[in-house]
Amino acid sequence: MLVVKKFGGTSVADKERIFNVARRCIEDYKKGNDVVVVLSAMGKMTDALLAQAKEINPNPPKREVDMLLTVGEQTSVALMSMAMDSLGVPSISLNAFQVAMHTTSAYGNARLKGIDTDRIRNELEARKIVIITGFQGIDKMDNYTTLGRGGSDTTAVALAAALKADQCEIYTDVDGVYTADPRYVKNARKLDEITYDEMLDLASLGAGVLHNRSVEMAKKYGVQLVVRSSLNTSEGTVVKEEVSMEKMLISGVASDKNTALISVIGLEDRPGVAFKLFHHLANHNINVDIILQSIGRDGTKDITFTVDEDNADETVEILERHRSGSLKCQKIELDKSVAKVSVVGAGMMSNPGVAAKMFEALYDVGVNIKMISTSEIRVTILIDEGFTNKAMNAVHDIFNLGEE
Ligand code: ASP
Ligand code: MG
Repeated sequence: MLVVKKFGGTSVADKERIFNVARRCIEDYKKGNDVVVVLSAMGKMTDALLAQAKEINPNPPKREVDMLLTVGEQTSVALMSMAMDSLGVPSISLNAFQVAMHTTSAYGNARLKGIDTDRIRNELEARKIVIITGFQGIDKMDNYTTLGRGGSDTTAVALAAALKADQCEIYTDVDGVYTADPRYVKNARKLDEITYDEMLDLASLGAGVLHNRSVEMAKKYGVQLVVRSSLNTSEGTVVKEEVSMEKMLISGVASDKNTALISVIGLEDRPGVAFKLFHHLANHNINVDIILQSIGRDGTKDITFTVDEDNADETVEILERHRSGSLKCQKIELDKSVAKVSVVGAGMMSNPGVAAKMFEALYDVGVNIKMISTSEIRVTILIDEGFTNKAMNAVHDIFNLGEE
């Protein structure tokens, strides 16, 4: 059996944990399995490197940021291989360049295009545990790139797909996927199974447990994922196409405070305005989330939308730059103190009334809704950030998601 095992930053944060991971991998290896290990940078190393970059240059070139960040993952894979060596087991660490993990050139947010598997296969054949840097890639000019924060999950799933692995295990510091973040919702319950689509929505909407592109990729290539704890041996959550148990109406509630609301007020009410606005943002790789356009009046209209808070200032700058040209408007407003709260569940498709019930929960606790967006299996609302926990708990309760 070929297994890909990915461990996040907290799982390799110090010497003791590195040895803990090494032992877990060795256990698998000794059963006769081929073991590929993907690691994140130790603890908060990526944050520390980013802070270091900003100290030197508040606006560092993106290529150099990626060059710097790759050091994080390279540190953990090398140390892991040393740990395995001291335990008497053969292993080899490889970075993105040595494997050849090909990506686009979008520094900081690159997409994987293909992985050369020859080197990995040869090392596995020589009965080594192969330890690979998560998060990083190389572009066609051999520049280092990174896949976006949390991107090591995506590296692991991509490797599992490329190597046709039998299993892809994502080890983290929680026991699996929960109905809501247990730090904020006391009676949150661990799910045994969840579908790719539900997981994709939860991941994109703020359930930090998996990188959303990793779920996208798992679905596309049919890689069955297991999310479980590196600190204990409990079963975890299986992410797959169909869940076998009776489908629940709602599988989870997620919140995301890393969101900002931007209102462009008094735009000209004519064709092409929305196109131009979002085209400028797309050119700068800025992802737009919920979009709301007002009904035109007196020849003008307003467009309101959300972006990641990290992109908020840049978004406003871009819009301001075009105000005298293609984007004439009266006013541009920015509000960072908003949060998204979402309910997700495949059961919604066949059961009306989910949105109404969610709104009822918010009404009961006096939380005002600023924006609403829905899909087949999701309802998202935008609220004042200060009410996030209250809203989460109220919604979680009204759908009876908690432990009995
Ligand atoms: N080390 C990277 C980050 O902190 C990638 C990862 O952990 O998945 O975002
Ligand atoms: Mg992560």
